[in-house]
Amino acid sequence: MQDKLNEFANEIVCPTCGSKTVSKVKYTWWGGVLGPKLLHHTKCDDCKYTFNSKTGKSNTPGIIMYSVVLFVVAFAVFFFIRTM
Ligand SMILES: [Zn+2]
Repeated sequence: MQDKLNEFANEIVCPTCGSKTVSKVKYTWWGGVLGPKLLHHTKCDDCKYTFNSKTGKSNTPGIIMYSVVLFVVAFAVFFFIRTM
């Protein structure tokens, strides 16, 4: 268990195809610059699969959550400005 964790910390491997040629995503349409940073968004260069480099799982639930939070915040700000 401990060895596996260390291994993963040193080397990020694509969870679907096992490729080591992965790169950090700097910008996405859903999260701008901050979103992918918060979710450790990583993209596999071989199969184009995107995942969370910290958990090794798909980031889809995180992306949905991020979008919802962003939408709620935008909505709240919009109403706050309107009521001023
Ligand atoms: Zn891959």
